[in-house]
Amino acid sequence: MKKILFVTSEAYPLIKTGGLADVSGSLPLALTAQGHDVRILMPAYGDVMAELENVHTAVRIKQANSLIEIAEAHLPGSGVKVWLVAQPGVFDRRGNPYLGADGQPWADNAERFALLARIAVEIGLNRVGFRWKPDVVHCNDWQTGLVPPLLEDEPGRPATVFTIHNLAYQGVFPKETFKRLGLPQRFWSYNALEFYDQLCFMKGGLVFADRVNTVSPTYATEIQGDEFGCGMQGLLRQRSDRLSGIINGIDTAAWNPEGDPLIPHPFNATNLAGKRLNKAALRQRMGLDDSNSDALFASIGRLVQQKGIDLIIDILPELVKLPLQMVILGSGDKRYEQTLSQWAKLYPDRIAVSLGYDERLSHLIEAGADVFLMPSRFEPCGLNQMYSQRYGTVPIVRQVGGLADTVSDANATNRACGNASGIVFRDASESELLDAVLRALALYQEPTEWEKLRLAGMARDFSWQKSAAQYVSLYKLAIADRNRSTKTMLSLSASA
Ligand code: ADP
Repeated sequence: MKKILFVTSEAYPLIKTGGLADVSGSLPLALTAQGHDVRILMPAYGDVMAELENVHTAVRIKQANSLIEIAEAHLPGSGVKVWLVAQPGVFDRRGNPYLGADGQPWADNAERFALLARIAVEIGLNRVGFRWKPDVVHCNDWQTGLVPPLLEDEPGRPATVFTIHNLAYQGVFPKETFKRLGLPQRFWSYNALEFYDQLCFMKGGLVFADRVNTVSPTYATEIQGDEFGCGMQGLLRQRSDRLSGIINGIDTAAWNPEGDPLIPHPFNATNLAGKRLNKAALRQRMGLDDSNSDALFASIGRLVQQKGIDLIIDILPELVKLPLQMVILGSGDKRYEQTLSQWAKLYPDRIAVSLGYDERLSHLIEAGADVFLMPSRFEPCGLNQMYSQRYGTVPIVRQVGGLADTVSDANATNRACGNASGIVFRDASESELLDAVLRALALYQEPTEWEKLRLAGMARDFSWQKSAAQYVSLYKLAIADRNRSTKTMLSLSASA
């Protein structure tokens, strides 16, 4: 049995802006089910504290001149303990965890997540009075990047694992911030937290963690190259013997077409009648014409370039000529939001757009759509392509990152062995995406073939069990590495 402190800036169902929350809400449960002792550490955001029941103050500790409270609760619907870091004026504001109402990052984000890291270190060293010392501190994304360096020199420290959920967000701040945070001077080095004369939180994890991993094997390889390395490729290549990829699982209880309370008509692989009824319900909900047999295409996600939403927009003039309808749910870049709204106005019975975040609608879309579009430019893991397959919705994905690892293309070979579960295309170009759409439509016209694709996707196992076991192996490797050397300082090439 391993004791794991899981440090994260978001966890479903408490607060979610993206896939990190899904992982944080699922992996600790899967590890607990396998007999491990996991505690989640996260900020006590205003919205979270307003919603949480049965929360109490576990300890109060003094840090510098401030009094910090660690509240204790359980992740709703589970026995997993959550510790929430509170300091007046720091996390207790409402809204997005990272951004103010103006859409800009909170001005004190560096201070906020440095505080989270410092508390993780205190708990990691069993210095807050919990009488609980983790074997491993599992850090996630840049918000937790200062944990491994701050632990590095501490005698008897736990092992550290740093998971990259998205390398594009690195937590980069001006040099002055480094001074303001009072970080040890030795960290101001390109071998440590400095990144082109700026402070980079994520580098802390990449340089100092005993083990680094990311959320799919393909992305773990991709980020060591120039195209996807976001400037970190040199460093990641240096650490390649400590870098691996573990594909995310999905929450198979929340995303279960047979027992999903958020969809009107449950269904399963042996009875797909409910899927047709959900399609009708979705078309009705979105105001789309429900009198034809057109394929219903869908897309859910952040409306940002990463997700290739611009590619979808670019082919809309062609899509409206084809026998298909399109539903888009998302929020993000205002110019994409506006363009999509205009298209929906022009073609009200063919294109429907819902701007905003809507968990219930996202379930209805997965349940009711025929095809799911995910033409990401890069995709560390991605979740919707897995939800889609589980709900019998055929995904069209680009061959990158986790998409490449979780969808098998409907080519002749894969179809012959019954393994095909989607359409996979290579380049982030309009022509390839359109070609993939046409391939999907051609298969959609052949009901037997289409059903085979659907059923192959529905039969796949995307549960957390296997991935959680891989994390346990990773924790063991991290502990062995920590035992071998407590110093992980690297000499990096200037090209990092
Ligand atoms: P990322 O973390 O890069 O945003 P992922 O595919 O890993 O992408 O995870 C995104 C998660 O957020 C998925 O669970 C997806 O369904 C959900 N999601 C994204 N946008 C919306 C939205 N507008 N409404 C509901 N759910 C959304």
